[in-house]
Amino acid sequence: MNGRSARVTPGHTRPPGRLLTVNAIEKGASKVGIRLKAVENFSRPRPTLTFSILTKKDRGCQTFYRILMGKKVCQNHNNFEGKWHNELNRILDVKTWDRILSGIGKINYHNDLKWLQLRITRRILHTNVILSKYNTNIRNICDFCLTDAETISHFFFTCQKVQGLYSEFGKFLLDHNIFLNIDIKSAIFGFYNKPPMSMDNLVLLFIRGFLWNAKYKKVTPSLKYLKCYLVCCIRNLKHVYMNIGKENYFEEWQTIYDTLLSEEPEE
Ligand SMILES: [Zn+2]
Repeated sequence: MNGRSARVTPGHTRPPGRLLTVNAIEKGASKVGIRLKAVENFSRPRPTLTFSILTKKDRGCQTFYRILMGKKVCQNHNNFEGKWHNELNRILDVKTWDRILSGIGKINYHNDLKWLQLRITRRILHTNVILSKYNTNIRNICDFCLTDAETISHFFFTCQKVQGLYSEFGKFLLDHNIFLNIDIKSAIFGFYNKPPMSMDNLVLLFIRGFLWNAKYKKVTPSLKYLKCYLVCCIRNLKHVYMNIGKENYFEEWQTIYDTLLSEEPEE
């Protein structure tokens, strides 16, 4: 699409193709809970958000995603940052939030995990604390420890069952000379000073996927199951890199992959 040739003047009827695209953008935005018309009021300076999206030349959804998740948009329409500051009892600065938000858009080949991370960051993940607000039959208690309230930070970090898992897994990694410093921020958002597709970040993302899976499969997370889950994730990643001719991206994974394979339980 070309921004110059597609200029829309007030009162001018939009071409049918353009109208369809605008409708699709508005529909897409409303599906993720963003009222585009309202957001446009905050698009300063012009061009408006819709115009920016329409005139982007890049293919794929990443550019759209970046615009929709941009600081300007979120700051005015979502208080999730403030809620995180309360829950974590610390303030994350604007630069950090920008890194966290743009990092989600850079998660490739794992749309399910990308969606999970988006829900975690924007605090729309259906933990028991959230579900219990809408359904009185659901208790807000954590499915793993059955003791504390299942907030996002509890579920992915402070829960004693999860802490036990991190501790065992950290020891397992250390035995293979891999050191991962997992704290509450990295457990929830990843290492935002490292590339989102780096091994450190993907391992943590896989663990978040594993924990969320375990909740819905109603199993207690254990190191044994985590290792099986990771082998599967890493094997898939290897196939992806081979298919796109980027075998060298897998080099940093080889040690942990070989170790996990060697420990895989026999069928
Ligand atoms: Zn718990």
